[in-house]
Amino acid sequence: MKTSRVIIHYDEIALKGGKRRAFEDRLLSNLNACLKARNLPLRARNAWGRIFLEELENAPLPPDWQQQVRAVLSLFPGVANFGFVEVAAKDMEALEALAPVLVRRVIGHTFRVTARRTDKRFALKSFEIERAFAAAMFRAAPDGALKAAMRGYEREVHIEVLAEEIVVYVKEPGIGGLAVGSSGRAVSLLSAGFDSPVASFMLMKRGVTVFPVHFHSSPLVSDEALEAARDLAQHLSAVQGRLTLALVPVLPIQQHIRDHAPEHLRIVLLRRSFMRLASRQAEQLRALALITGESVGQVASQTLENMLVIDAAATLPVLRPLSGLNKREIIDIARRIGTEAVSARPCDDTCSLFLPKAPETKAKLKQVLAAEQRLPQLAALERAALEQAELVRFAWGRELETDPAEDTTREKR
Ligand code: ATP
Ligand code: MG
Repeated sequence: MKTSRVIIHYDEIALKGGKRRAFEDRLLSNLNACLKARNLPLRARNAWGRIFLEELENAPLPPDWQQQVRAVLSLFPGVANFGFVEVAAKDMEALEALAPVLVRRVIGHTFRVTARRTDKRFALKSFEIERAFAAAMFRAAPDGALKAAMRGYEREVHIEVLAEEIVVYVKEPGIGGLAVGSSGRAVSLLSAGFDSPVASFMLMKRGVTVFPVHFHSSPLVSDEALEAARDLAQHLSAVQGRLTLALVPVLPIQQHIRDHAPEHLRIVLLRRSFMRLASRQAEQLRALALITGESVGQVASQTLENMLVIDAAATLPVLRPLSGLNKREIIDIARRIGTEAVSARPCDDTCSLFLPKAPETKAKLKQVLAAEQRLPQLAALERAALEQAELVRFAWGRELETDPAEDTTREKR
């Protein structure tokens, strides 16, 4: 029998009704693709409403495999929680021999032991197993090092008596949600700041396959923002798996707006261009929504009035998963998903370059449409920008080699 090393629980199945099977298959294939890409000799298998990672035969696990698996599973869309499994033969002596290992996993936290018997013929009842194992843990720990708590405990030691063996594990939290690929596609407007990578992550967690697009002002602006966007996309690919970033040059559009539109409307006009460009990309990809990192009132341009005018240029719904979050809450998530450091790098981005002294905070659609009428080259410049889009592909945290012979038009994405 192959050794189970990790047990994974998923959630939200009840909500999905008849889609349960498809969801499980999707999560399983995402996990296996990830394990393979990371060269971890483990395979995911579905059994009794949860997933086990089993060791491959004749392939030794690297010494740091637990750290690697923990880093992956704690941010894996669809994984509610997971635990590293210890396996014992079906007798109390073998089970109690595992006590020192479990002591190390709960030390410093209040804990309880919970036992469940799938095999009801086992000699001890569940509560008897719980008591005996907790006693063994106390014997194995230094005096006063362990603190049990029946309620409000921080760690739970799970014991399951299965048909052929006993498994023991401590649950560690995942992010839950749905497996990527189960909720369709969306194009995400990715800047170099804190917000948009977090917004992209939030929808990956809901099963959406995200296609980030970054608008840049090269060569006028240094490449810092561009590099940051690439690094953020690479980071996000560690969560999503395969991911394609589009880099779209918008400097000519900005210059046209700067030269021909009222200064206070620059930001709103540029954002409307972003929406049109992202909508065209989404149509090519058969994506069903756009995503931005906006939060109501965070900066002058992010008022409800402006959002109304900006969204009127989009042909798809605009999802703003951060609209109700404070900056502090957003940065907390950025830290957890590992994008904070890249987003904190100072850089001159597209918009700071053209920032008006007093940006419009209550744009009126009529006024903005009139201003757009006086931008005769806008449509042609937007078409040109899309034609010059450059694609960068990533998978599971790594950039993929681009085949120089490959046609990189956006249709091929
Ligand atoms: P962020 O932290 O995501 O940069 P922000 O607080 O700086 O956001 P803005 O610069 O007003 O806010 O941008 C609002 C949203 O517009 C961003 O969250 C992002 O979705 C989108 N956006 C802004 N600049 C760009 C860009 N250069 N390329 C792609 N999308 C962008
Ligand atoms: Mg920004």
